[in-house]
Amino acid sequence: MTKLRILTSWVEISEKAYAHNLNFFKSRLSPDTEFSVVVKSNAYGHGFLEIASLAIKYGADSFCVHSLDEAICLRKSGYNQEILIMGPVLLDRLPEVLENRFRLVLYNLEAIDKLKKLTDKNGRTVKLHLKLETGTYRQGIEEKSLPVFLKKLNQNPRLQLDGVYTHFANIEDTTNHEYAFRQLDLFTRMAKIVKNEGFADVKLHAACSAAVLLFPETHFDMVRLGISQYGLWPSRETFVSYKIKHSANGIDVLQPVLSWKARIGQIKPVPPSQNIGYGGTYQTTRESRLAILPIGYADGYDRGLSNQSYVLINGQRAPMRGRVCMNLIMVDITDIPEVNLEDEVILLGKSGNSRISADQLANLCGTINYEFVTRIGPSIPRIITE
Ligand SMILES: *Cc1c(COP(=O)(O)O)cnc(C)c1O
Repeated sequence: MTKLRILTSWVEISEKAYAHNLNFFKSRLSPDTEFSVVVKSNAYGHGFLEIASLAIKYGADSFCVHSLDEAICLRKSGYNQEILIMGPVLLDRLPEVLENRFRLVLYNLEAIDKLKKLTDKNGRTVKLHLKLETGTYRQGIEEKSLPVFLKKLNQNPRLQLDGVYTHFANIEDTTNHEYAFRQLDLFTRMAKIVKNEGFADVKLHAACSAAVLLFPETHFDMVRLGISQYGLWPSRETFVSYKIKHSANGIDVLQPVLSWKARIGQIKPVPPSQNIGYGGTYQTTRESRLAILPIGYADGYDRGLSNQSYVLINGQRAPMRGRVCMNLIMVDITDIPEVNLEDEVILLGKSGNSRISADQLANLCGTINYEFVTRIGPSIPRIITE
């Protein structure tokens, strides 16, 4: 860990916790179900290539990403697994999809026409995953458009329909899963039409983390596991539903993988009645000691945490004082003995018996754990630890 000594702030990725989570999910999936991990957006802030390496090491079968560039980055790094691009790819860049043998989400006719031209010309094939609209109203085609898509695909054997999929709109935000089941019914009906129109072997997939955790009937031929591979619950509602369903306490089912740390940049005494930081939103009430930390909202430490959060030093809480700056925050260490310059501070993670979770920080700034971890600055080094 000599590298850590030269860093002012870094993210640690626990290999043990990640392995635990992947083993847990593998044990819940049928061996026929492809285990695909979603590593978009820098692997939800956990470090793109760091997580990719661990995912393959611990038994993931394939990757799902958002963008063509993410997919290319994985290929260039030597990953020969299937990679599904779930977000839009510009028509002019479709040749790169063919060259790199990516799976591509399909939801518009323009892409089919362009792919037909390209594959006619160069003789290559492309694996397409048709996205079905079942009530999320993001990407996806409606039932009435199925015939025209299937006809074009049937006429063009180089356009291989490898999968059909959908995405749930309201599965983690509620403990009432009626809407999700309506989507599931529609998906099953549309998928049957696809199979009957000459695509009997097409892979079906629908499950995100909440669906994987709660409903085995959504697993089909492949799952797209995002947030929960990182040891985070999609929501409180999912956690509660899981506990009820499995009569389990649920506490150790998932282990958070990410910790975020920084080193103290300065320690200073502050007299009583002094205003701290921009706008003077905090005033000291006593003789105080502050530690200045080299992270701020530019690093994803949300400005909404101003005067709200705390960090851990030697297992004790040091409350944040004043506003979060672009690259710095100030914390109160008056009540914590023996704190020294360049000591390690936990912004997110465990210290002694105390823990600050992504859920807590997200709650404090009015968002969800997904957003909080995803926005941890990509330039902060991710380091895999035991
Ligand atoms: C991001 C995403 C997922 C993963 O969702 P989690 O809730 O993080 O598991 C799955 N499918 C699609 C289409 C996505 O965009």
